[in-house]
This record gives sequence, C-alpha cells and structure tokens, in this order.
Amino acid sequence: MNHLLLLLLFGSTLTCAAAATPSAALRPAPIQPAPPGSRQPRVLHYRFDLRDPTHIHVTLGLNVRQPGAELLLLPSRWAGQDELFRAISNLRVVTPEAHRWPASGASLSPTGNPSRWLLQTTRAGPVSVAYDLTQDWSGPLKHPLEHRAILRPNLFEFTGENGLVAPAIPASDPVHVSFAFTGLAPPQILVTSFGTAGQQSFDGAWSEVRNALFTGGDLSVRTLDVEGSPVLLAIRGPWPLPADEVSRQIGKILAAERHLWDDTAIPFYAIVIAPYEDTPSGGGGSGFTHIFNLFLADQRSFTADTASLVAHEAFHQWNPSGLGAVDDTQQIAWFGEGFTSFYQDLILRRAGIIGDQEYIARLNLTIKEYLLSPRLHAGNADLRRMPPTDSFAYAEPYLRGSMIALWLNAEIRQESSGRYTLTDLLLALRAERSLPLTADRIFSTAARFVDAVAIRRLRAFAIDGVAVPTLPGSLGECVAFNDRPVWTFDLGFDEASLRPEGVVQGVQQGSNAYQAGVRDGQMLGGYSLWNGNAEREVTLTLREQDGKRERLSFLPRGTLLSIPQAEQLPGCPIGISDLP
Ligand SMILES: [Zn+2]
Repeated sequence: MNHLLLLLLFGSTLTCAAAATPSAALRPAPIQPAPPGSRQPRVLHYRFDLRDPTHIHVTLGLNVRQPGAELLLLPSRWAGQDELFRAISNLRVVTPEAHRWPASGASLSPTGNPSRWLLQTTRAGPVSVAYDLTQDWSGPLKHPLEHRAILRPNLFEFTGENGLVAPAIPASDPVHVSFAFTGLAPPQILVTSFGTAGQQSFDGAWSEVRNALFTGGDLSVRTLDVEGSPVLLAIRGPWPLPADEVSRQIGKILAAERHLWDDTAIPFYAIVIAPYEDTPSGGGGSGFTHIFNLFLADQRSFTADTASLVAHEAFHQWNPSGLGAVDDTQQIAWFGEGFTSFYQDLILRRAGIIGDQEYIARLNLTIKEYLLSPRLHAGNADLRRMPPTDSFAYAEPYLRGSMIALWLNAEIRQESSGRYTLTDLLLALRAERSLPLTADRIFSTAARFVDAVAIRRLRAFAIDGVAVPTLPGSLGECVAFNDRPVWTFDLGFDEASLRPEGVVQGVQQGSNAYQAGVRDGQMLGGYSLWNGNAEREVTLTLREQDGKRERLSFLPRGTLLSIPQAEQLPGCPIGISDLP
C-alpha cells in the first residue's frame, strides 16, 4: 500500500486506477455506439517510433465500422495521478500508409474535456491517428511520478492507462491489438506485457491492454527458470546486490504463487526493477498484465519488505486480473488489493522466506493499522470520494480487505469443517474467469462456501465500512487473537507539513516529535515514515538557512489502546496446511 512517503509502497496500478474507462456521459449524438451485441474483436494497431525515447511518436490505426463520430480517449486519471493527457501532444489524423485515405475523410476535434476528442469520419474504413508521447514532469524520479509516463534517454516506461490514446472500448470487450516498435538503438532493450520482440500482438479483453506496461532502455536482463517456465528479470541501473540471490528469492515467491493458483505453465512473464532517485529508502510497485515493476530507493538490500512487495505485485497476475475482466477496479479494491495484501505475506511464509514469528508480526501490523485508521468506518463509496492525497483513504481497501480475507477464511474453514479455505474461493473464481469480476460475483461465489448470514456480514464489511472482527481458527489451532495494548500513530505535528519544501506546523508540546527537537517553522528537506505505524521511527531532514541539513528521528506515538493481536501458542508450530 501507499505508505505516506516511502518506506514501502505496496502500490498498484490496480489500486488507484481511477477508471480511465469511459463513463456513460458522452456528448450528444451522433456518437457512434459500440455495435450492439457484437463480440467481434475490435482491431487496433499501435506503432511506436522509439528513435528518441524522450519523444515517442505513436501511430494508432483503427477500423471505423460506421461513418459518424467516435470518441477517442486520452489518458486522464490513474493511480492517483490527474491530467495524464498532458503527456500527449500533436494529436492528429494522418494518412494511413497502406490505404491512402483521403485527408478529408476523417477529422479530429477537441471536446470540452481535454481527455476526450471526437474522431469524425465520412465513411467506414481504416483511419490512422498520430500523437507524440513526452514526459510531462521534470526532476528526479520519485514517488508518485512513476505513475506518469517516464520518457528519459535511458529509461522509458508507460502503461495502457497513461500512454495510450484509444477508442472508448468497454473493459471486457474482445480486442485484437498489434504493437510495432521501431528505432530502439541497441543495446537498449524493450520489455512489454506482450513480449520483447519488435512486433507483438494481443488477443483478449481490452482491460488487459489498459493494464499493460511498456518499458525499455538501458536494462540488463536475465532469465529465471520458475517451475520450468521462463521469467524475464530486467534491471535498470547499478545493482549492488548479488543478482543470483535476488533471482533465487524472486523465483521462490513466484513458484509459491503458481502452486497456490495451480497455474505453472506461463509462457511469458517479466519483472522490471528500476531505482527511485533522491529517495532515502522504500519502494513501490505495480502489477500489470504478465509483468510487474518495482521502483526501489535502496537496491542494496532485498529485505522481507521488498520480498513482500514482490509477492504482492506478482499476485496481481491472478487477483484480480486473472479472475475476470474488471470494469471498476475501485469498486472491488477491497478484494483486488485487500486479498492480495493478505496473501503477500502468506506467500513468503509458504515459500520459507519468513518464519512464523515474522509472519505474525506482519499480520499484527495490518490488524493494528486497520483498527487505528481514521477511515475504519468509511463506506466504500465515501472512500472513493476522498482525494488521492488522503493516505489513510488510499490504504483502507488494502487493510480492510486483508481483514476480510482473514475473517472469511475462518468462516469458510468453520462452515466446511476444515475442508475448504479462502484459497478454494479464489480458485472457484479463477475457474469462471470468463465472467466479469464484480463485487456481486465475489459475493455469490462466496455464498457457495458460507451461509447467508456470513454473506450479509461480508457485504457490510466490504461496502458499508462495518469493522471486521478477528475470529479464532483462521490460522489454525496455534494462533490465538488476544487484546494487547498498542500505541496509536501520532506524528505530533500537522500531517499537512509533510511535503517537499514544507514547513513544520502544529507541533504538540510533549509529543515525541517535540522531545526530538521538532519545532514550528522548521523547513523540511525530506522525510521518511510508515504511515500508521507507531513502531517505526519517523525521520525528518531539516533544511537550515546555511544550506546544512539536520536529521531528527522519533517514534510517532500517541496514546495506548487495547486491540486484538495474533499470538502463536508456545511450542505450537504453524503448519503450512493451517494456512489458506
Ligand atoms: Zn496492489
């Protein structure tokens, strides 16, 4: 999840992808609707000229089925980023090379909304639209700028959501899309959701193209063998870690996930790791179609936190992407992000990367963050209306979903006398992945495992913001949940001060921050913290008038509360079979 400023950002495209898919609110006729009932794949051809990776020329070829007007969508909002259309310029109709389409046959005009253009045609047939993709920000590559198109001489990276102009295609509609990449100068390489070749194509649901990643540049590449299938590991920048050790750990995580999903024959999968710049610690990642990326501030250590991030992003291959086309990722973020968050540490435990104690400590942190969050009782609809800068609202579906998963696993185990676990519910959803993945489908599939009372509670937890309890038995007989005193998270000054070039305000006398020397009016040069975590130190870097920098660290503790925490019973090892 997206911890305020990085120690670890378990971010994902799936989380914050703020519906770039079109809403029904189109401009008046004569906009051409999608042909009714047609399941013929829509055919699109993208061509990327990569001679200058800071300025990519893109051509989109599409077939117009009926003359009239059709909406073209530019990138808009995604992963908490707004106005992504700023990366698009020079949008125009061009003459398709193959068809010599008369220039008068098609035209493009802006609408009142800069992310929506009207393509007007006087006849059916092929049309080509061109645009330039450039980076619309400057300075070091820091969170959250990785969610905008990155176009630098040595690294380019964009996604279906922030780099592609496309017609308004419903997420679950079938498409045939080809991608041609030209002009990349060796030894620079290309890695996308669909392969590494200069010519690529995809047949499937449009949502998978929206959820695609396209990257390349000065990447060093190695291929891991995971259960007999190749996994491409592409790393940008200096990599001080022994790559063999990192590869081995990543291989173990991917193998554990593939076993869990009973999905081992995966022809293409890639991982792209790049450094954050000018960032003291932490990392973030996003899961895409057949690929995930990680941005790490410090590549010297592959910690349990980094492994957990890998497990999270890799899990998105199945949840939610592999469970059915998702029209509205935000509506089911409690499932897509929350259940993924629940499984990420289970996977590390299953893979033997962490032990029982570490697993329980990480689970307890989730329980605590969840119960102490100021957004604990916010309904799903309310959370969606909160601004992307509200870090607690952003984190809530991850925490809420983790707790729902823990609770639902206990319910399923109890109802089935231990025959089934939460994983069986996921596998049932996977078996029917031709259906769209919606909250109602999740509830109705869960209803095969638990009774109607439990389904009503599940809805209340997921949709209404009713607090999720901990139940005994969720993790077998060796784990109990007992009330324990824990510290609330309190910075000791106004959270609004936490921004680049910020000035500290609202310091509370007597707080740990005050005792560490934090005072109103101090100028911030940087900071790191785990939002919501009172057990990890906050570090502030202060800018002095003479240009010097001073660092202050303290534990962000408020008051003591009593909340349930998981405890392993003495002499009782948790068996893998106790885990979902
Ligand atoms: Zn995620």
